[in-house]
Amino acid sequence: MGEDVETLKRRTPLLDYLRQHNWTGHPASRSEFVGLCPLHEESRPSFYVNTRKDVFYCHGCGQGGDLIRFVQLSRGLSFRQSLACLDPEITPEADTTAVLDEAADFYQQQLDHSPDAISYLRRRGVHDLVLLRELGIGYAPGGTLRRYLTAQGYSFDVLQRLGLINARGADALYQRIVFPLQQGECIVNLYGRSIGSAFAHRFLPGSKGGLYAWEKVRNCSEVVLVEGLFDYAVLRQAGFFNVTCSLGTHLNDTQLRQLCEGERTVYIAFDVDRNQSGQHAAEQLAHLLITHGISARRVPLPDGHDPNSFFVEGGDAPQFQSLLEAAQP
Ligand SMILES: [Zn+2]
Repeated sequence: MGEDVETLKRRTPLLDYLRQHNWTGHPASRSEFVGLCPLHEESRPSFYVNTRKDVFYCHGCGQGGDLIRFVQLSRGLSFRQSLACLDPEITPEADTTAVLDEAADFYQQQLDHSPDAISYLRRRGVHDLVLLRELGIGYAPGGTLRRYLTAQGYSFDVLQRLGLINARGADALYQRIVFPLQQGECIVNLYGRSIGSAFAHRFLPGSKGGLYAWEKVRNCSEVVLVEGLFDYAVLRQAGFFNVTCSLGTHLNDTQLRQLCEGERTVYIAFDVDRNQSGQHAAEQLAHLLITHGISARRVPLPDGHDPNSFFVEGGDAPQFQSLLEAAQP
C-alpha cells in the first residue's frame, strides 16, 4: 500500500494535479508557487505549493498536506476513496461516460427553464440557439441532479466518485453554465461557469481532456487558440470555425501534442489582462511551439480584453480578422 501511494504521487505531482484542475499559481520562490486557495473562499492568495516537498499549505484556512490529503479535503473523500479516484486504472471508463452523458443531457434540459442562465449567456454575448445546442451547453441549477441520476439507477458512490455530488450528497455544480468536454465521442468532464458570485471556474475531478472540439479543427492549417469557452463560443458565433480552446493558459501534454501534430500556424488569443499573466503565458507557449517547429502568432487584442469581451463590447468579425492579420510571432 505504502509503495502504491508513493508511485501514485510520483506519477502526479501536486502542482500538475492542481493545474489540471485549473488552479493558477505564481512563483513565490525557487520551489514555491502561490495562488488562491481552492479549499476556502478568498480574494488574496494564501495557498502555497512547495514543488520540492510536493506539499501544500494555506495560511488562510490552515489546511496542508500532500496530494492525497488535498483530494480528501477538496472532494470530501476518505483516504482510500481519494486513492481510488487518483488511480485511473480503478475508474471504469464506460460507466463514467454514461453518467456524464446523462448529466450533460439533464443540464441541457434545465437551460430552457432558467431565465437567469439565458440572460447570463446573453450578457456574455452568446445567443445563437443552434450553437448552444451544438455545443451541448446546459445549466446546473443545483440541488436536482442527484435525484434525477439516482432515479436512473446510478449509485451514490458512482456520482460521488465522478465528483458530480459532494460527500454530503449535494450537487457539485450549482448555478453554473455547463459545457460538456468531449474526447472524440465521449464526454470526459464537465466545465461549470458560475453565473453568481461563486468561484468562477469549476471542473469535475479528473482530466479535462485534450483541446476543446479538437476533432473539428485538427486538419486546419491555421488554428485560433483561446483560453476560455466563452471566448470560443463568441468566435464560433461570429463565423470563425478554426477555433479551439485550452481551458486555461496552462496546456497539458495531450493539448500540446495535438497542436504539434502536423504543420500549422497557431494564433494564440489569450487574455490581455492587467497583470500580464495571459500575455506571459502566450509568450511562453509561442516559444514552446516554435521549438516544436510550429509557427505561432500572438493576437494583439486591445488592453484589458479577451476575445469574449472584445465581441461583447461591440467588436465584429472583420475587426477580429484584422487582429489575426496583425498577429506577430
Ligand atoms: Zn485555504
